[in-house]
Amino acid sequence: MDFFDKLGATITTKSKDVVQKTKDIAEIVKLNGQIANEEDAVRNAYLQIGKWYLLSHEGELPCEAAQWAQAIRQAQEKIERCQEQIFKLKGLQACPGCCAQVDADALYCPRCGTKLPEKPEPCCCEESAAQEESCSCGCEQPAEDPCCEAEEPRCCCEDSRQPDAEPEKE
Ligand SMILES: [Zn+2]
Repeated sequence: MDFFDKLGATITTKSKDVVQKTKDIAEIVKLNGQIANEEDAVRNAYLQIGKWYLLSHEGELPCEAAQWAQAIRQAQEKIERCQEQIFKLKGLQACPGCCAQVDADALYCPRCGTKLPEKPEPCCCEESAAQEESCSCGCEQPAEDPCCEAEEPRCCCEDSRQPDAEPEKE
């Protein structure tokens, strides 16, 4: 009987160990979950600090921060371009007032009532007409007074334009 008592005691101890180990593992999983939550909170706080700093120090950023600010601007511009493409493909436009997706032909936003930008009359050569709106080097100069040497794209509807608007160059 002594042998069986000892055996029984050993099995009980072992199963207690297994139960304890299982409990420990569950506790570790729980703690890792808490760590992940707190790390998220830290990341979010850093993000908010960065946003606040960028907005309150715009124009006076040290160059280390300026390059990150530029990266953000570039990414945001890309996002906007992609969204514009998605809207175009869907036949929609973004309301400048509330960013709602609005029918491309709508005159006013049905959600906030903002007057939507009027679309220019479509040109038979839409692409070159669009390029004519600004200087091809990407600056703010109007096409009538290009600051770069690039050749001005010519529109086939040019005859309908006012002769005064023609740039004086050879
Ligand atoms: Zn709106």
